[in-house]
Amino acid sequence: MSPEKKCIVLKFGGASVSSPESFSSIADIILQRKKEYEKVIVVVSAMGSTTDDLISLAQKVNPNPPRRELDMLISVGERISVSLLAMALSAKGSEAISFTGSQSGILTTDDHSDAKIVNVKPQRLLPHLENGKIVIVAGFQGMSISGEITTLGRGGSDTTAVALAIALNAELVEFFKDVYGIYDKDPKVDKDAKLLSSLSYKEAFQIMNNGAKVLHARCVRLAEKNSLSLKVLPFAHYNEKNVGTIIHSQEKRKLHISFEI
Ligand code: ASP
Ligand code: MG
Repeated sequence: MSPEKKCIVLKFGGASVSSPESFSSIADIILQRKKEYEKVIVVVSAMGSTTDDLISLAQKVNPNPPRRELDMLISVGERISVSLLAMALSAKGSEAISFTGSQSGILTTDDHSDAKIVNVKPQRLLPHLENGKIVIVAGFQGMSISGEITTLGRGGSDTTAVALAIALNAELVEFFKDVYGIYDKDPKVDKDAKLLSSLSYKEAFQIMNNGAKVLHARCVRLAEKNSLSLKVLPFAHYNEKNVGTIIHSQEKRKLHISFEI
């Protein structure tokens, strides 16, 4: 991939795609970023409570479903989101194409419902990125070495976004969430909680260990290992001043890619 083309990964959580209308709003955010970055990869979670709904649907059929079949079912949530987002972008006259985790070359262990990413081979995405298309990837899922559909554990779409950013040498990952950023304390419990504008990985781990579940812990470890910067932004106010938190890398980006954490 030509290094001069600026590349970014944008991640949208379930809250940002909770209604059919929300796809049009996040398409606008994506198109705004596309003006600045030639290569834009978007990772999306399942809509609202879809994953929970699919799990309870499975349990109505079998209270203890085989984990392989559960992964087959719950990976569908993200697939709904990526196809709808590609349709929303197409409605705005923009070229976008959606892929599942396995089509995107997200290779995992075979631990169904808690698989770890072992490698990312995004060959199928490259020609579309080179041609300027917006590439949309289903979060939370991959394919095991034996070809089975796997999922990465609850909240795992964050890790999909970071793994793709590492494999594609993106400048950073922006996470669009239903919070203003990362706070020093839980803002729902503590009224004095302060929004932090910038954090080291270590500080982010400390805050997350104290209960803030803003990002999937595994994704922060993976980012640290590869010196990738992460930014958390509120999807409804992403353009405002004094919002968002950046987790900075102090080091230059590592060229040696590692998915081990
Ligand atoms: N949809 C999955 C979950 O709810 C993955 C994610 O949201 O990141 O856990
Ligand atoms: Mg979700």
